[in-house]
Amino acid sequence: MEVWEYGSVEVWECGGMAVWEKSYTSVPPYPHTSILPYFHTPPSLKMEYEAVIGLEVHTQLKTRSKIFCSCSTEFGAKPNHNTCPICQGMPGVLPVLNKQVVEFGIRTALAMNCTIADYSLFARKNYFYPDLPKAYQISQYELPLAQHGWIEIQVDGISKKIGVTRIHMEEDAGKSIHDENITGSKNYSFIDFNRCGVPLLEIVSEPDMRSPEEAREYLLKLKGILEYLEVSDCNMEEGSLRCDANISVRPKGSTKLGTKTEVKNMNSFKNVQKALEYEIARQIQILEEGGRIVQETRLWDVDQGVTRPMRSKEEAHDYRYFPEPDLVPLVIDKEWIEQIRKSLPELADARTARFISQYGIPEYDARVLTASKFVADYYENTVKLYPNPKVVSNWVMGDILRKLKEHEQADIRTCPITPQHLAGMLKLIEEGTISGKIAKVVFEDMYATGKMPEEIVKEKGLIQISDEKEVAAVVDRIIAANPETVAQYKAGKQKAFGFFVGEVMKATQGKANPQLVNKLLKEKLST
Ligand SMILES: [Zn+2]
Repeated sequence: MEVWEYGSVEVWECGGMAVWEKSYTSVPPYPHTSILPYFHTPPSLKMEYEAVIGLEVHTQLKTRSKIFCSCSTEFGAKPNHNTCPICQGMPGVLPVLNKQVVEFGIRTALAMNCTIADYSLFARKNYFYPDLPKAYQISQYELPLAQHGWIEIQVDGISKKIGVTRIHMEEDAGKSIHDENITGSKNYSFIDFNRCGVPLLEIVSEPDMRSPEEAREYLLKLKGILEYLEVSDCNMEEGSLRCDANISVRPKGSTKLGTKTEVKNMNSFKNVQKALEYEIARQIQILEEGGRIVQETRLWDVDQGVTRPMRSKEEAHDYRYFPEPDLVPLVIDKEWIEQIRKSLPELADARTARFISQYGIPEYDARVLTASKFVADYYENTVKLYPNPKVVSNWVMGDILRKLKEHEQADIRTCPITPQHLAGMLKLIEEGTISGKIAKVVFEDMYATGKMPEEIVKEKGLIQISDEKEVAAVVDRIIAANPETVAQYKAGKQKAFGFFVGEVMKATQGKANPQLVNKLLKEKLST
């Protein structure tokens, strides 16, 4: 579990959830005790259980225009601004496939070890919903773009391949806005069609995951791959990465799948993990009480921390797929695939290996740093300015990632402490201008103000006191003021030494050079 202490999951907003064993012999301590009093005292279960989890991830592709028309995909534009007759579903218009979407799809599929179909088809997925003006979504069904891939994850140092069943392209729907006082009344709902026709990839996994932790690892790995490929922003808040999960539980050792439920509406990594933990515990509880799991779609209620059944009206499983007559079958040239394969960037696993050999940092560090392309870029940029790879690694994995997490700012690209800031501060420590302790103060200030470290040190007078005479004067004063403690120390109470160090540091506001303080104290206390 150390992995997550400073790992990127913390940054991508996973909280300190209890870790589950891969099999469940009791229901783990539960955060939602007020809703499920059953979990107050974890009961012993009659049976050992194992969870079976499969994930469906929708990711918005970072193309400039939509999948079947030339409208912009820009996020945050004025409602219904990025629309045209095609994405508004006007009759008589024809969709035209965006080549960039196919290329992004192929890139993703190759990076996930899939086989690309040389012949794939689009289908109409029919359902009526106000934010879908055509009353059908153009998607792929029987013959998707790519199939049979895998992603490798690491949990507790053990590698595991998670199968990728299929990857297909589809268009996004619009957005309904409820309960917003736009017209002076809350009695209206509004529709924004800007998102209609924004390209999506749907990446469906095999039910290969056995714990919420594995599911989280899979998602992180997947997000990392999409980032490295630069095909998606992967911004969960803006909806460019969305995840639904299929979950069932079964007696450990059984090969038969239990009845599954589908959980939707999980909008952060933290919520995916919480929702899975909740749903597994709920299913085990039902089975233990002799009940049966109902196959249904459930929503994750973030506020209550529970999953609840979707109202049947919201559930539209009877999709009725038809072939899309307005789009020709997609025939992909083998040469094009090879060309894209050659252009693939260095992905996380390769970068991990390179970090280990090039920078000589431990595998653990390399994995944490390369899980996100942007963290890895940040690390490399800092090392260029301050070529001590392990020191930089410690600071990035520790203080930088922790700071970002504290401020729920998952994106290192907008961190106020840039590689220049961090490298500058590390140089000041190395030169002895500031102590490690003062560096923490400088660090906080850099984060808050964005000022360069040299400026902060100057402004706040934080320069380390390395002048022997100056430090010796303080040491003498402290020793003289504490004769009893001196006597205790001389009588063999080693702990007293720490007291003196603390007092000297306090008297110098943490600015005394620690090595010097130690040296002088030892000298003076032994006389
Ligand atoms: Zn359009």
